[in-house]
Amino acid sequence: MNAPATLKSDPISEVAANSYDVDRIRADFPAMSLIINDHPLVFLDSGASAQKPVQVLERMDRAYREEYANVHRGAYRLSELATENYENARKTVAKFMNAASVGEIVFTRNATAAINLVASSYGRAFLAEGDEIIISYMEHHANIVPWQMLRDEKGIVIKVAPIDDDGNFLMQEFAEMLTPKTKLVAITHTSNVLGTITPIKDIAQLAHDHGALVLFDGAQGIVHCGVDVQDVDADFYVFTGHKLYGPTGIGVLYGKKELLEKMPPYQGGGDMVELVTFEKTTYREPPVRFEAGTPPIIEAVGLAAAIDYVNGIGLEAIQAHEAELLAYATERMGAMNELRIIGRARQKCAIISFTLDGVHPHDIGTIIDSRGVAVRAGHHCAQPLMDRFGVAATARASFAMYNKKEEVDVLVDALNYAKEIFA
Ligand SMILES: *Cc1c(COP(=O)(O)O)cnc(C)c1O
Repeated sequence: MNAPATLKSDPISEVAANSYDVDRIRADFPAMSLIINDHPLVFLDSGASAQKPVQVLERMDRAYREEYANVHRGAYRLSELATENYENARKTVAKFMNAASVGEIVFTRNATAAINLVASSYGRAFLAEGDEIIISYMEHHANIVPWQMLRDEKGIVIKVAPIDDDGNFLMQEFAEMLTPKTKLVAITHTSNVLGTITPIKDIAQLAHDHGALVLFDGAQGIVHCGVDVQDVDADFYVFTGHKLYGPTGIGVLYGKKELLEKMPPYQGGGDMVELVTFEKTTYREPPVRFEAGTPPIIEAVGLAAAIDYVNGIGLEAIQAHEAELLAYATERMGAMNELRIIGRARQKCAIISFTLDGVHPHDIGTIIDSRGVAVRAGHHCAQPLMDRFGVAATARASFAMYNKKEEVDVLVDALNYAKEIFA
């Protein structure tokens, strides 16, 4: 039914893919040896959260055992050590995104908290009634709801940039939506449902030409494509640690220095203040201005270890490997009758949403789980996108650096089994 995806042949990627030792990588991830329902786990839900390598687990364990105290407070060696670790993690993140300075990296709880920070701080201070924000049809609820809350509070207008039936971002239509009233463009770097990779550099340029700022939701994008925030000229870029092979409980807001500097604090408390009296409080500079209370200290250390791990393998090599998995899975799943792949964008990462005629996505999930295959089923926190494609839910197989082709075969066999049960 569906035409197989065409695989771009890129000589550099091929070299990277050929030297890619997926079994060695799998050996680093304890979850890859799990037996679930009497079957080896085939984990195809990294789009919801990725598994962690031992390098991350051991680094966090050591930090808790030997390097643990609160940060930015104690005048003793252990607290200094914890503070160094925490601030070094910020450096690792800054380098990974190519931020111009370490002060542009704010640690948050997750991507959602980072977007809420921008909406609450920047939005409340600098957006006024009638100002326009452009999002897209592909947004995760995390990049919809904070703007709606701001709309209800401030009377701003939210416009939604369209996509075509394959899930491509429509640049021309987007360009026509920009007006002098557009103050912010908040778009996903990569769709967690369709896998679409959006042209963030072009979007930023167009938005800037119209005097608007850009925020990119990189929760998926940074994992599958990486980002150079200076090259893209992003004003804000957010991501979440747990999808990048790091721990839960930590996310990142990248913000340009001049923007963070003029933004008021979002939450008040310890650490973010300079001087407190009952009459008046003065606030510290970014990024600590936005990090009220005890921060995710060990999570930051774990995130840095995850980034080191990714760098050790190489983002390009991971991308090439995932592109191969995507092409193979698209071909094999596309060849199945009754299977509809939702999302066939030209630029796409290894996420495949699909439906199977006659089988509810939740039933697909349950049946193939009996074969050890873990996929997500539901609306994927993107209900408006489900409406756009006329479905209530999909099943979604999302791939990561540790998946292998043989697992695609297991998935397809399990899907055929689900089809037979419902036939
Ligand atoms: C997962 C995800 C989020 C939210 O990440 P949290 O860790 O839950 O805050 C936002 N946007 C996209 C595209 C996602 O995939």
